[in-house]
Amino acid sequence: MNAAVVKALEALGVDCAVRAVSNGADWQVGRGAPIVKHSPIDGSALAEFAGADVTQVDAAIDAAAEAFLKWRVVPAPVRGAFVRQFGEQLRKYKTELATIVSWEAGKITQEALGEVQEMIDICEFAVGLSRQLYGKTIASERPGHRLMEQWHPLGPVGVISAFNFPVAVWAWNAAIAWVCGDPIVWKPSEKTPLCAIACQALFQKSLAEAKGVPAGISTLVIGGADVGKQLTASPKVPLVSATGSVPMGRAVAEVVAKRLGRSLLELGGNNGMIVTPSADLDLAVRSIVFAAVGTCGQRCTTLRRLIVHESIADELRDRLLKVYAKLPIGDPTAAGTLIGPLVDEGAAMQFDAALAAAKEQGGVIHGGGRVTENVPNGGAYVRPALVEIDAKAAIVQHETFAPILYVMRYKNLDEAIATHNNVPQGLSSAILTSDVREAELFCSPAGSDCGIVNVNIGTSGAEIGGAFGGEKETGGGRESGSDSWKQYMRRVTNTVNYSRDLPLAQGIKFDV
Ligand code: NAD
Repeated sequence: MNAAVVKALEALGVDCAVRAVSNGADWQVGRGAPIVKHSPIDGSALAEFAGADVTQVDAAIDAAAEAFLKWRVVPAPVRGAFVRQFGEQLRKYKTELATIVSWEAGKITQEALGEVQEMIDICEFAVGLSRQLYGKTIASERPGHRLMEQWHPLGPVGVISAFNFPVAVWAWNAAIAWVCGDPIVWKPSEKTPLCAIACQALFQKSLAEAKGVPAGISTLVIGGADVGKQLTASPKVPLVSATGSVPMGRAVAEVVAKRLGRSLLELGGNNGMIVTPSADLDLAVRSIVFAAVGTCGQRCTTLRRLIVHESIADELRDRLLKVYAKLPIGDPTAAGTLIGPLVDEGAAMQFDAALAAAKEQGGVIHGGGRVTENVPNGGAYVRPALVEIDAKAAIVQHETFAPILYVMRYKNLDEAIATHNNVPQGLSSAILTSDVREAELFCSPAGSDCGIVNVNIGTSGAEIGGAFGGEKETGGGRESGSDSWKQYMRRVTNTVNYSRDLPLAQGIKFDV
């Protein structure tokens, strides 16, 4: 096994005989289907073990349900104090966790560290939130009555996560759910099992130092889609928070809706940016390149469609191509590398297939193809592609999870906004402009139809303080900051009569 990963796991107290299931403080050997994991960096073997089976998934859900009975009555600020302790563990082991993220997901060191920082940030947010789970007091229409709202814990939250944010997405859910009084049952991506094991190990370290925290507030079941399906179908899981592709989200939504549960969906994006004639092109180049090729195009918020005014399109393309030509591609753990590998060969094949389709549909391709020199053997390294293409080409409607940037031209802003919104997904968007009217129009109800609408920055790299998520096929969910916490709680409306009379609402007379 890879020495850097072994060292990082050992620092976290994980022995390298990998276990697939944890109901809190314990580890269990899986009895289900095999999980085999190779590093995207060099194909080296990282883990091979059996995943969770049906009875183990049931047991994890039961452990969470049992923990809920205790955790829901722990005062929220005390729950917050536990999240603060967990955040301290993340600070202490930031480098080790980032090392595992790099080796398992292929992220460059800076982005892996940034992902762990995002976990620390959400813990801080959640600690503050633990004293701010406010309900409203509402004026009653009846004399001698008080109307008020309370927010109560909801129950076990099923978290299904994707490979590309293998630790932060869990933390977004866990930190908020914990202060809200909910346990978590986590089904991570089968492509990033060690990241999940490392997070659970850090939870266990916090648990060992804490008093009165039921172990079952964090349970882990590693496995494939079948494990996710079982979690989704369980009536003991009132909320399923699922991050991943649109087909996965559709499947989850159908199952959860059928049992009238709640789902929080964070699905695929097809993110666009409009660059207007007044844009600062230096800033445009930097923000476009980070958004389009960062994480090798494998962020849900990756910039995939660039809609440029025809008067500046040639200049911007030429400047981008100059930067694309010298992007440092290679080992993501090496200093200076900006583009690591795709997650696996399957992703590289989709990259090749999308470029072939774009060419067939009239696209002019710049870049693309495999990189084999100065990169580790055994990984799927590709050269990011920029494709000049007509906005009506069918390929532009699809999210290919790889570094392909489609570049289109526009004549007037209304047409550009219509083009921007004319895709099935609605996650992130941006406009680059120095004209306040253009910026405000893009942010207005007649502008971008996405959940994230930026001005003079790219589409990726959101902060945790805002609500994160998108519309249309992106699923409509909002996670992380702002008032996303409300989805993890149930709202209770209380009417309290402190009079000696019984006036009825709406003035109804019902004398007995
Ligand atoms: P994926 O859909 O292949 O897998 C995501 C998770 O869903 C995995 O844990 C998988 O095992 C599980 N799963 C698959 N089918 C399931 C089913 N029927 N029922 C229950 N669980 C099931 O996604 P991926 O390839 O890991 O990640 C890439 C995708 O995720 C992209 O589309 C990307 O845009 C999206 N994503 C979205 C966000 C967001 O916040 N909107 C964040 C990260 C990734």
